[in-house]
Amino acid sequence: MLLYKRKNEEYGIFRYAVLFSEIEGRLKKLSEKYKENMRFDVMGYSHEGRELFLVTLAQDVSDSWLDEYSKQRLEILKNPKAALADFDEKNCPPLPVLINCNLHGNEISGTDGMLAFIEEVLEGDKREKYLKDTVILISICLNPDGRSRGLDCCNGHGVDLNRDWIAQTQPETRALITGCHKKYYPTVFLDMHGYMSSGNIFIDPCTPPHNHFAEYDLLASHLLKNAREMAKEIKEKTNLNTDIPAEIWDDGWEDYCPIYSTGYFMLNGAVSHTIEVNFPSEEGAYVAHCAAVGMMAYVLENKWQLYKDQCEFYSRGIENKKDSNFHTDYYIIKRDKNGFADKTAKQLIFNGISVYKNETGDYVIPLSQPLRPLIHNKLWQGEDISDMINECYDIAFYSHTIMRGLDVSRAEKGDPKTVNLREFKVESRYFDAGSEVLTGLKLPETPENLHGSQTQSAHKSPRILVVTESGTTYEVLSEMGYDVDYLPFSELNTGWRIDTAQYDILVLGGTKSQFWEDPFEDKTGIGYQTSGGLWERGRREIISAAKNFKKLILFNYAGMKVNEELCRINVKPLQPEEAKGSSFDPENNKYIFNVSNGSFCMVFKPEDPLCSGYEKKEVLYLVAPLAFESVEAAVSIRFGEDSFINGFSKNKRYFDGHIAAFHKTDNEYKTVMFGFDPTYRGYTDVSFKMLHNAVKIVND
Ligand SMILES: [Zn+2]
Repeated sequence: MLLYKRKNEEYGIFRYAVLFSEIEGRLKKLSEKYKENMRFDVMGYSHEGRELFLVTLAQDVSDSWLDEYSKQRLEILKNPKAALADFDEKNCPPLPVLINCNLHGNEISGTDGMLAFIEEVLEGDKREKYLKDTVILISICLNPDGRSRGLDCCNGHGVDLNRDWIAQTQPETRALITGCHKKYYPTVFLDMHGYMSSGNIFIDPCTPPHNHFAEYDLLASHLLKNAREMAKEIKEKTNLNTDIPAEIWDDGWEDYCPIYSTGYFMLNGAVSHTIEVNFPSEEGAYVAHCAAVGMMAYVLENKWQLYKDQCEFYSRGIENKKDSNFHTDYYIIKRDKNGFADKTAKQLIFNGISVYKNETGDYVIPLSQPLRPLIHNKLWQGEDISDMINECYDIAFYSHTIMRGLDVSRAEKGDPKTVNLREFKVESRYFDAGSEVLTGLKLPETPENLHGSQTQSAHKSPRILVVTESGTTYEVLSEMGYDVDYLPFSELNTGWRIDTAQYDILVLGGTKSQFWEDPFEDKTGIGYQTSGGLWERGRREIISAAKNFKKLILFNYAGMKVNEELCRINVKPLQPEEAKGSSFDPENNKYIFNVSNGSFCMVFKPEDPLCSGYEKKEVLYLVAPLAFESVEAAVSIRFGEDSFINGFSKNKRYFDGHIAAFHKTDNEYKTVMFGFDPTYRGYTDVSFKMLHNAVKIVND
């Protein structure tokens, strides 16, 4: 269960801004007035059951017209060459343009700006042209739980949706993919964000490095010109300036990693932008409106070129020419006992990728597919980009292969491993409402018999309180069948008192920048004074509550600090890596996450209970890990020699040979400490079981 002071209540919002509960009424009124050209549908529901609305503006919004249009769009992926041959500049079909609003809960302005933009489209002097040449799709509020309840940037489960586009663990992310994206494959995508606190607005294109597989040359010219068109419209109407990262910085705002909305849509062939408006004022909403107008001007002006380039994008995938060092004809995923290969295959299919089985029953994914860029991003093993850049915005790369511990090989055409392929189809839809987020996680024991046979009386699941920077820790433990409550930082910051008597185990974790320091500390109150990180008040409460817990599972920086305060285990930590300068530099509007992240070779102690189910050597995906020189406890996991493999690190040898996880039982006190988050954002399936092992250790 999620703990909140005020459940299911809608909070007030800035005076001009629309409450989430008012949106449906507003849309209804507009769609009644303009029923020929506007409709709105429900794409899905948020965690707390709020509607995820999709507004469609088109020359005809009947079911039959939109079905036909959707078919035509899907045909472009199947046969892009024919789709190009069938049309020319004069009869180019309308282009789908997708605008996504309020993905971050407290970044409200896109929604208000787009409500006004809808009226502009339907009533303004460009009406006929807009409706003839485009189909405008507006996801009016992708994070209604956040909007309604002022929950910092995250959704109702404490998950940052703008890091979830490849993992796709959240209902909001999945709804936009099934309810809109997969019907139309938008040509242009704009994601409405806000409040980087400088006076200037911010619009992509990003700095290098760009994603290897995004066919960036096709997108780049559009990205820059489209951004300039948006900036021009904003300047004309408001006299505000816009910063374009690609024009002002060398690095630090890159589109290398595909976890963001723009990254995902780029890999699906859309010219994609993030816009950060400056303030959540009425003007902020107007800036969002102006950006949409500027973007539409670009789309109308460059329609045929955009269409041609999108066809070319899919053609390049289908042809699968050898055009990079990472070229292969097939990825082959070996089936595993954990079911992570099955999960991956289903997820590829969910994303419109064809998956086959070979004679030995392994999954084979041919690269000659329109979405080749997405396949590479999911299945490659990353590379070392440490020397390519000085600063890295977030994590360096994504890889199901590394994060799920999969055995993925490559094969060229004619390879015996790929013979007799049979197409593999998912019988049921993978992401049914209420379906398991982490299907395939097979636990060696059920929580009911955690205590083993000797303690017959203790067949009850322990009660666990989770206080971590991402709700995915809570989701993972819940799915394992534990009795878990999750307390978001936002509640702790505003005075939640932890009732320690209710719980057996405290699970606590967070990185330095999200726990001890808040890179986005909201001094001006523009994010309703909510925060992604803990404030002093929250930290004090968590430390005093932790003292009352005899069973602690601690991870990362937060865990280390709490252990330090409580003196449960004597440790000599390696000095945590320091980010250069401040982790968020408001002067330059830069957020820098330049701590080590990526794949690391780790050495496990096979007989240690924390290592149960693991081999002696494992590759783990770690983000901002901590290491220890010595500990007065049982050491479970160490960094290997030459441990850093791929990703970003300015201190590659820093962790080598040092301690990464340990545990101690001292009379009634039982503590497990990880130097890393074993459930990081829900990405790292291969390490989830360690958390289960940890529960077992402290609960024994
Ligand atoms: Zn944002």
